[in-house]
Amino acid sequence: SPPLELRGVARRYSTEAGTLEVLRGVDMALQAGEVVALVAPSGTGKSTLLHVAGLLERPDGGEVLVEGRAAGTLGDDARTEIRRSTIGFVYQFHHLLPEFTAAENVMLPQMAAGVGRSKAAERAKDLLGTFGLAARLDHRPGKLSGGEQQRVAIARALANAPRVLLADEPTGNLDAATAELVFAELLNEARHRGLAALIATHNNELASRMDRVVTLRNGVLVPG
Ligand code: ADP
Ligand code: ADP
Repeated sequence: SPPLELRGVARRYSTEAGTLEVLRGVDMALQAGEVVALVAPSGTGKSTLLHVAGLLERPDGGEVLVEGRAAGTLGDDARTEIRRSTIGFVYQFHHLLPEFTAAENVMLPQMAAGVGRSKAAERAKDLLGTFGLAARLDHRPGKLSGGEQQRVAIARALANAPRVLLADEPTGNLDAATAELVFAELLNEARHRGLAALIATHNNELASRMDRVVTLRNGVLVPG
C-alpha cells in the first residue's frame, strides 16, 4: 500500500459568513520514492490539506490512510504515534526551539519516540552532517543563518526516519539563492531515502523539478 493515501477527504470550517468547504473530496495516493509538488494559491486550503494528510487535523469526511492503515478510527494517541514514526513535517518558518542547540532540536523528536539520548545524539550528528552542519551542532537557532535554520528543520523532520515527508513552502522564507540550495538538498535527500513527499510551493520552477504537480482547485486535487 502507498505510504500516504487520501480518499474523498473533506474539510469544512464554520465561519461568521457560513460554512466554508475547503476540501470537498480530495483523492491522492503518494507512492514511495515520489516527490509531488502541491501548487495552490493562498487561501485555497493547502495548509488544511497538509494538516489533514499529516494527521494533525481530522477530516469531516473521507479517509486518510498511512501505509494502508485508516487513521479515522484511531484515537489521538495512536494517531500521534503514527505521525511521530512515519511522517516528517517542514514548515515555511523553521519553528526550532530557540533555547535548544541544533543537535538538541534534532534529538527531541527521537527522544519523544523513545530513542535513548546517546543514540539520538549520534543520529542528530549524522543528519546535521548530511546538511553540511557538522560544525553547527552546538549552535542555538539564533546563531544560525536562515538557510542553516531551515536545514536543521529538515534534519529534524527526518529524525525518526519517516516514510512520508510533508512540507509547506519549505524554502519560502529564504532568499532566492539560498532557497535554491536548500531545495536541492531537500529534494536530493527525499529521493535518496525513497520518501513519499508532498511539497507545497508557489515557485513554478521548483515545482517543475518534482515528479509531478497537483493543484487544489475548488476543494479537489487536479493534475497541475
Ligand atoms: P492556504 O494554506 O492555502 O493559504 P488554509 O488551508 O490555511 O489555506 O485555509 C483555507 C481557507 O480556510 C482559508 O479561507 C482560511 O481562512 C480558512 N480556514 C483555515 N483554517 C480555519 C479555521 N480553523 N477556521 C475557519 N476558517 C479557517
Ligand atoms: P508532540 O511532541 O507535541 O506530541 P508530535 O510528535 O505530535 O508533537 O508532532 C509531530 C510533528 O507535528 C512535529 O513536527 C510538530 O512540529 C508537528 N505538529 C504537532 N502539532 C502541530 C500543530 N498543531 N500544528 C502544526 N504542526 C504540529
